[in-house]
Amino acid sequence: MLASSMADSPWINPNHLVVAHRLKMWYTVQSGLFSKTRYVKAVDDVSISIGKGETVAVIGESGSGKTSLGRTLLRLYKLNGGTLIFDGKDITKASESSIAWFRRRAQMIFQDPFSAINPFHNIKFILEEPLIIHGVGGSAAEREEMVIRTLNEMKMNPPEDYLFKYPHMLSGGQRQRIAIGRAVILRPDFIVADEPVSMLDASVRVEILSLLKEIQQKMNIAFLYITHDISTAKYFSDRIAILYAGKLAEIGPYRSVIKDPAHPYTQALIEAIPDPDPSNRFKDRKIVGGEPPTLINPPRGCRFHPRCPFAMDICRREEPPMVEVKNGIYAACWLHIKK
Ligand code: SF4
Repeated sequence: MLASSMADSPWINPNHLVVAHRLKMWYTVQSGLFSKTRYVKAVDDVSISIGKGETVAVIGESGSGKTSLGRTLLRLYKLNGGTLIFDGKDITKASESSIAWFRRRAQMIFQDPFSAINPFHNIKFILEEPLIIHGVGGSAAEREEMVIRTLNEMKMNPPEDYLFKYPHMLSGGQRQRIAIGRAVILRPDFIVADEPVSMLDASVRVEILSLLKEIQQKMNIAFLYITHDISTAKYFSDRIAILYAGKLAEIGPYRSVIKDPAHPYTQALIEAIPDPDPSNRFKDRKIVGGEPPTLINPPRGCRFHPRCPFAMDICRREEPPMVEVKNGIYAACWLHIKK
C-alpha cells in the first residue's frame, strides 16, 4: 500500500530506513503594509529516502530549504503535507510522547557546536546527559565507561584529560568532536549533520569529515549531510540531492552526478568548484549568476528559469517533473523530457 503510493517517486526506496514522500514544510510570515500573512514554502513536495549506513548529501545555496528539510526529517519542524516513515513506521502524525524511541535513534549535529553544547557544563556531563535523558546505561560507572569510549572514538586522547574540561577550553575542532560524540553516544541509526564543518578552519575540516566517515562505517549510521559546498560531499557521500528553492532539482549516485550532471543548476555548482591546479583556477569557470528566489513567491514553472541559460518558454509556464535521465540520476528539467 505504502510502496504503491510512492510509485510516483521511483528514486525513493520504500524499504529504506528514512522515507519521506512528498514532504511539505511551510510556515507563515507577516509582511507588507497591512501585515498580510504569507507562506514560506521552505520544503515543497520533496521525496527522498536514505538507507541504513548510507550518506545522502543535500546540497544547495543558502535559502534553498536544506536545513528545513533536515529538521523536518527529524520531526523538529511540523510537516504540512506528505508522509514520513522511519524504520517502517509511519511517524508523520505520531504524537511527541509516542516517538521517544525515534528521538533516541535519530540525532542532529549542528553547524555551530556551541549551540549543541552547554558552555557551563563539563565534557563529562555534556556527553553523559543524553544517556540520562534516554535512560541508557544502568549506573553512573557504566555511563562513565560509555563517555570514555566515546571520547576515544572521537580521538580525544587520553579521554581522562578532557572529562572535566569546559567547552571554552577546547579548540573549534575539538568542540565539534564533542558535539558529534554527544550525537553518537546513543548509537543512533540516523544523523542529520547540518553544515558540520562550515564554521571550522580549513585545516580541520577534512579531519572532521574523515571522522564522520569513520563513524558512519563503524556504526552503520545513515547520514543526511547538509552542505552548501559540493566539494566537501566527496568525503563521505553515496548519493547527492540538489535542492533549489525548496524543491529537488536532481538526485543520484555521487560519482555519476559529479561526472555527468543532468540539471543546469548542478552543472553550475560543479563548474564553480575551484580547480586545485592554480594554473587552471580561473579557466572556463562559470558561476551561476543571479540570486536564488524568495520562498514566499517563487517563480512559476521551473524555479530556476530566471537564472538558467537554457530556459525555454515551457520552463516559464510549467513545472518540470522529475524523470530518470540516466543510470539512477533523476532530474527535474524540461531539457530531458520529450515533449
Ligand atoms: Fe533550465 Fe528549463 Fe531545465 Fe529549468 S527546466 S533548468 S529553466 S532548461
